[in-house]
Amino acid sequence: MHTNADQIEDEAQTEPAAMTFSDLGLSQPVLKALKGIGYETPSAIQAATIPTLLGGRDVVGMAQTGTGKTAAFALPIIDRLDLSQKTPQALVLAPTRELALQVCEAFEKYAGHLKDVHVLPVYGGQGYGVQLSALRRGVHIVVGTPGRIIDHLEKGTLDLSALQYLVLDEADEMLKMGFAEDVETILAETPATKQVALFSATMPAQIRRIASQYLRDPEEITVKSKTQTSANISQRYLITAWQQKMDALTRILEVENFDGMIVFGRTRSVTEEIAEKLRARGYSAAAINGDIAQPQREKTVNQLKSGKLDILVATDVAARGLDVERVSHVVNYDIPTDAESYVHRIGRTGRAGRTGDAISFVTPRERGLVKMIERATRQQLTEIPLPSVDEVNVTRLSRFDDRITAALGEAERIEAFRDIVAHYVRNHDVPEADVAAALAVVAQGDTPLLLEPDAAPAARERTERPDRGDRPERGERRAPREGFATYRIAVGKRQRVEPRQIVGALANEGGLRRDDFGAIKIMPDFSLVELPANLSREALDRLADTRISGQLIELRPDSGRPQRRTDGASRPRDDRGSSGRGYGDSAARGSYDDRPARKPRHKRTDG
Ligand code: AMP
Repeated sequence: MHTNADQIEDEAQTEPAAMTFSDLGLSQPVLKALKGIGYETPSAIQAATIPTLLGGRDVVGMAQTGTGKTAAFALPIIDRLDLSQKTPQALVLAPTRELALQVCEAFEKYAGHLKDVHVLPVYGGQGYGVQLSALRRGVHIVVGTPGRIIDHLEKGTLDLSALQYLVLDEADEMLKMGFAEDVETILAETPATKQVALFSATMPAQIRRIASQYLRDPEEITVKSKTQTSANISQRYLITAWQQKMDALTRILEVENFDGMIVFGRTRSVTEEIAEKLRARGYSAAAINGDIAQPQREKTVNQLKSGKLDILVATDVAARGLDVERVSHVVNYDIPTDAESYVHRIGRTGRAGRTGDAISFVTPRERGLVKMIERATRQQLTEIPLPSVDEVNVTRLSRFDDRITAALGEAERIEAFRDIVAHYVRNHDVPEADVAAALAVVAQGDTPLLLEPDAAPAARERTERPDRGDRPERGERRAPREGFATYRIAVGKRQRVEPRQIVGALANEGGLRRDDFGAIKIMPDFSLVELPANLSREALDRLADTRISGQLIELRPDSGRPQRRTDGASRPRDDRGSSGRGYGDSAARGSYDDRPARKPRHKRTDG
């Protein structure tokens, strides 16, 4: 095979030349669609692949999910479609039904500004009826799994005689799934004149052989993976409505023990707005974005370095290569749409061997992006609820304590006031504690020290299905699925238990499979789990003795009656001490006496 290896390394530290999509030779309708979607600059694989494909040459692309490879092959195809042709012009082979559907959606998104582009997913498990009638009506692009495509070819229901573009997406995965023969048959039995693009994360010998046998003088393009996140960064995400992001950020700032922070916003105006609101709330925050001149940006970054500034609100471009050791936290106020940006953004923390924290805000519609990032980085992100009012109040009280402790350290000034206070106590016959409380009132001013329980939306409780991600809980209780019953386990939010742990523990101990799990609802002190109604006595016994985070789960069928709260008195004082990184109702209700001594990393003009 002729190789013209184009090693592309879009190093995050250096500012790459500002390449635009129009530089790649794409036409207006496609450029318009990209603008609408919000893609600003092409990713490395796109910059390398699009001109080659537009030029008509075959491509072998070594790139992983998350690099933007779908657009890299989809855009040149859309750009050159002949909409008057009724038989399929482009065929994309993908290893799984999920990927096929995802690729279809991408095509539809990118073809948004073209009239009547028909894209058809074709995969096994779906009835032939829909596929056949769509094919009869006329389809421009077919995206399918190899097995079902072969079925159609054998039945004579898919006419690929005028095929111009063939894409093998995730070729290595297709081989792993046993599609090698099908893929070769399709390659061999489609017009020799077609253009082929083969994408694969790895290049085993079998793929090299297929490429040299069926592709014509392909350009080989390798994008070095930048989707590797470092292990010293804890990655969490929080589902929040778009309108509630500012509230969420405020709570995060209250409960997280941060030193320096970078908050990422999608647009320049968002960064300005966030910085403005944070300043109004007493934080030292500033925005950096492309609208701000370079010398000013440098000044702002230096202020972050020196501690004059604690929070930098930035766009991707403005934060490129930023290296400030004291950045302990990155918050993705808007989650990025591509994995490389995500990796670059969170890489702004955990510098110089330190640990770092990354928290991403995800709107319910953006859940898919979390999955995409998890796939691309091969790391799990932990979902956390919005920090609860209790949690915020515990930290506020700790901070209040810290201020008292700090003031007590100012011996001279204490000395000066001691006599004044003593004089007051003698003359007014008031206990010293009351005078101290009165002084706290003076110091606090009109701003309440603690959040009211209903001052902002409380942490949400949610129902989750392990196989489909979670859904918001509507009613308090609902009837379990047919064949399922609701069971109660003695661990809940207080133990910071997550659905994932429940599924893991029950699956291991009870020999359950994924489909044996229905909804999971995590309550403050217990959880409800839907499991098959006909669990054997033996399985139940084993499950009753299972532990999660060291605590016996005492699984039993749920009576459906509301339980009296059993927390508080009988529970050890440090029951919050699980190692989870989420937030729970950690404070004892109505009393925050057992709050942890906390050493805030950041300063804030309180009160
Ligand atoms: P892929 O590697 O094709 O699965 O793409 C990963 C993600 O990156 C998808 O969510 C795309 O929507 C997004 N994406 C692709 N190209 C770009 C781009 N040039 N700018 C921003 N996001 C992109």
